[in-house]
Amino acid sequence: MTLGSDVSRLTTTPAGAAAQGLSIVVPLYNEAAGLAVLHERLTGLGRTLKARYGLASEVVYVDDGSADDTLAVARTLAADALDIQIVSLSRNFGKEAALMAGLDHARRGAVLFMDGDGQHPPSMVEKLVSHWIDDGYDVVYTAKAHRDNEPFLRRQAVHGFYALINWGARQKIPEDAGDFRLLSPRAANALRQLPERNRFFKGLSNWIGFRQLRVDYEPAPRAHGVTTFSPSRLIGLSIEGLTSFSVAPLRFASMLGVLLALTAFIFGLTILWEVLTTGKQVPGYPSLMIGLMTIGGVQLIMIGIVGEYIGKILSELKGRPIYFIAEHSEKRTDHDTATNAPERTAAE
Ligand code: UDP
Ligand code: MG
Repeated sequence: MTLGSDVSRLTTTPAGAAAQGLSIVVPLYNEAAGLAVLHERLTGLGRTLKARYGLASEVVYVDDGSADDTLAVARTLAADALDIQIVSLSRNFGKEAALMAGLDHARRGAVLFMDGDGQHPPSMVEKLVSHWIDDGYDVVYTAKAHRDNEPFLRRQAVHGFYALINWGARQKIPEDAGDFRLLSPRAANALRQLPERNRFFKGLSNWIGFRQLRVDYEPAPRAHGVTTFSPSRLIGLSIEGLTSFSVAPLRFASMLGVLLALTAFIFGLTILWEVLTTGKQVPGYPSLMIGLMTIGGVQLIMIGIVGEYIGKILSELKGRPIYFIAEHSEKRTDHDTATNAPERTAAE
């Protein structure tokens, strides 16, 4: 019995890569306004990829419980140059779950993840695909070229977050990396095998290893609407990432405890010294209060941190599904229906 996992049979050569094709996973939450335009751009992309690499592609739209007409608009889209799958979740499960649903339904070899709000330009995809097919990379991830347009405090927070999450980690999660990324067939397969329910996608696709490549780019402004990631949601995602990827907070807690105990010990020694040498009683009330409050506060924070981990263990233990699919439909391009029919039955 091996305890590891061998995905080497999925290694692709340029010719094999093109034959397996590409699945583009797009999570959608209230994106009705921009969906038609996005689909048009993706269709153009499908055509280019077909012409350049002979690459057959499909798009998997995951409707993450949108409150607007996203699903209705998605149903009207035409499968021209690429196949369409529409996976509709039973409610809003969040982007990480939507990405997982898309990954589970992707039928082609390689998988590309991109946002449905137009911030991840389809024109960049060609470049990512070329790094996979021509250069043989397994994980081609994009990262923001710079964060100059973001507020100073936010930049510092992001920096601190990555410093903490990567502290002592063997596989560092690159700062600024986004969810816009391409995974080769073997990398996608590896990602599918990770069993955790609490998912921090960027971290996981980095953790699996293989040949990774960073591509810098400048995200386009949102095509419509505003971001769904409010500061509080971002903090939630950060805590999620931290607790699923590192024990740094726990280590930090123990170190702080040692530091406090040491300070108290030295403080005690100085008091003793003072009493012995001068014979004066040291007034105790303020120092006692400070000590008490410091230790009380630190303990509460630490209990909170431990609680985060226990909560995580609980949700893993319950083993609930990450998402429920309420509706699943697909449209195939005429050309592909004929050639891929047997493969499709095998996949289902
Ligand atoms: N999204 C989702 N479920 C959610 C929130 C967002 O599927 O609960 C999708 C959203 O439709 C978009 C992508 O995730 O395609 C990124 O969302 P957004 O643009 O709000 O985030 P940002 O680009 O600001 O990080
Ligand atoms: Mg966005």
